[in-house]
Amino acid sequence: MRISSRLREVLRKAKKVCVLTGAGISAESGVPTFRGGGGTAVWKGMPFDQISSAKMVRENLDEVWAWFDYRRDVLKDCKPNLAHKILANWQDKFEDFTLITQNIDNLHKEAGSRKVLELHGNIHRSYCIKCNKRFFMTKDTIPHQPEFCDECGSKVRPDVVLFGEFLPFDVYEKAEQKSRQAELFFIIGTSAVVYPAAGLAELAKLNGAFLVEINPEETPMTEICDESFRAKSSEALSAINQVI
Ligand code: NAD
Ligand code: ZN
Repeated sequence: MRISSRLREVLRKAKKVCVLTGAGISAESGVPTFRGGGGTAVWKGMPFDQISSAKMVRENLDEVWAWFDYRRDVLKDCKPNLAHKILANWQDKFEDFTLITQNIDNLHKEAGSRKVLELHGNIHRSYCIKCNKRFFMTKDTIPHQPEFCDECGSKVRPDVVLFGEFLPFDVYEKAEQKSRQAELFFIIGTSAVVYPAAGLAELAKLNGAFLVEINPEETPMTEICDESFRAKSSEALSAINQVI
């Protein structure tokens, strides 16, 4: 895979580097994506944006848990892949490196990334719908535990941002600040249709960052990218990693 002299130059000079990842980076670990490859995920006849919604939490939390327990079960044996590992190394290669993810699968942390801005939460966490107390699960806690909060007895829900909900403010604010400052910004394995996450790449570009996309398919972001790799994330990142 050819790395242009332009990108080599930016890689050599850039101190502030941001990476935004989506479901595609975990595809090679065996985690299914929701979009891409011509398909869209459906659970018990419901499209994923219906079952993963704030409305469903209000109307049928048990069904939401069934879907998330199913996803946690799928994830149980998934391991970080080469792309996750290369990004974990990048935290020590660049002076100011920020990893932002839309993924909830915890694989960046498992690969060794110390600080990850998890825009959409984490599938192994939950919180009480009344007092917000937070709970942590291991990969093997299937079905989820606890069902009820030990402080107030209310139901516990996944600590995942669902359709119709706001992103965690402090995490998003940090991601926005780092995106604005970035000299080099990678957008990897995301269909770039979920806002405001996708807007971070636009923000970076508007503020002068060199924008690089890695995705086997074109996305709405391709147009504004300075460079696009039509490749799997592990392949493109390996090639780029060799010239750093
Ligand atoms: P998406 O499912 O909408 O899009 C996945 C993208 O990855 C597609 O554009 C596809 O072409 C690309 N892709 C597929 N294989 C790839 C590979 N090997 N290398 C690089 N790219 C590849 O995912 P999204 O944009 O992240 O948005 C979906 C939302 O669903 C996110 O908010 C996320 O929270 C959630 N989600 C998370 C996971 C996860 O945690 N692993 C999985 C599915 C969905
Ligand atoms: Zn509680």
